[in-house]
Amino acid sequence: MTTTRAYLDCNASEPLRAQARTAMLAALEQCANPSSVHAEGRRARGAVETAREQVAALVGARAADVVFTSGATEANNAVLAQGWRRVHLAAIEHDSVLRPAEAGGADMIALPLDTAGRIDPARLGLPSVAPDVRRALVSVQLAGNETGVVQPLAEIAAAAHGAGALVHSDAAQAAGRTTVDFTALGLDYMSLSAHKLGGPQGVGALVVRDGAPFAAVMRGGGQERGRRAGSENVAGIAGFGAAAAAALAEREALPALRHLRDDMEREALRLLPGTLVVGAEAERLPNTSCLVLPGLSAEMAVIRLDLAGIAVSAGAACSSGKVGPNRVLLALGLAPELARRAIRVSLSTRTTRDEVARFLAAWATLAPADKRAALPASTQDTHPSPGKGATALARAV
Ligand code: PMP
Repeated sequence: MTTTRAYLDCNASEPLRAQARTAMLAALEQCANPSSVHAEGRRARGAVETAREQVAALVGARAADVVFTSGATEANNAVLAQGWRRVHLAAIEHDSVLRPAEAGGADMIALPLDTAGRIDPARLGLPSVAPDVRRALVSVQLAGNETGVVQPLAEIAAAAHGAGALVHSDAAQAAGRTTVDFTALGLDYMSLSAHKLGGPQGVGALVVRDGAPFAAVMRGGGQERGRRAGSENVAGIAGFGAAAAAALAEREALPALRHLRDDMEREALRLLPGTLVVGAEAERLPNTSCLVLPGLSAEMAVIRLDLAGIAVSAGAACSSGKVGPNRVLLALGLAPELARRAIRVSLSTRTTRDEVARFLAAWATLAPADKRAALPASTQDTHPSPGKGATALARAV
């Protein structure tokens, strides 16, 4: 039984950064409500506004345009709830975009994808509308949670604006892992999540361009300049800000992360010939690897890896525990029998080479012995048997 685990599921939640923890503990010591006018309240307000500046700096936005929310799910829901007549989006979007788009009653129009899951800005297929109609939304994730594929968002936004639509991007997976510049991308709305960049869970942000139409979904006390009511989650927000600042400060670590991921993929392919790396031909986040295994279901692979001390996910195949082919990969045109075998390995700048080596040693044992490449003897016959690890199946995150 392995005692030291390797956590390689950072696209589900990235481990809390030390800076975020420190900022949260300091904020938790404060009791006050940031809307109170006394000194204690002003101190709490200071923590929130510092975090707003830090988040804005990470994503090239104005601090005044950052609205703190309970996460990217809420941010996505708030944008999709703005009474759109048409919503143009692709099947690869996160459920927190797709489900509220369906519920909002707008016409949903599919954006076509290539086999890597990219959207071609020249093929958005938007009917042109008078710019003042402004009731059509194009919603495109900046980077995919399953594959890490990065979309040509600036070009998509320019084309969408040319047709009179507004543009939203779910940048939950991208922020902190690649350059994100809300202003340069020309976005109207952008969703962020703290726990994908080493902040705490349960906090995120919606960036709303100054002048973009937006009516609060959460109504009440008028917090967040009337855009999201409710007493602020001061500690969570402080942790988000500190994590954003830390991510910005360590941007130079991203090329090394990419190198680690690329080395891992090369070795994974050598060890199990026939492995497919989804999206490899496209620009991808430096931390994400979507591997389709030869001859083994993703569920079985996740269980075996878990028993071997490695945390990865079977991707969005199992949103509430249900087993099936990964819908994002089906949308890319992958055959169901392949889409059933995709696992997602997602690293962070704090992932070590040793953790990756342990993953690879366990990975090497996943195929039947006659299908394995030359392996270190110690990894040859250590198939853990599936069993109670079934509970470890990842949710769609
Ligand atoms: N969008 C994407 C692309 C995500 O990966 C996630 C997290 N799984 C979300 C939105 C939801 O974020 P949160 O957990 O902050 O609500």
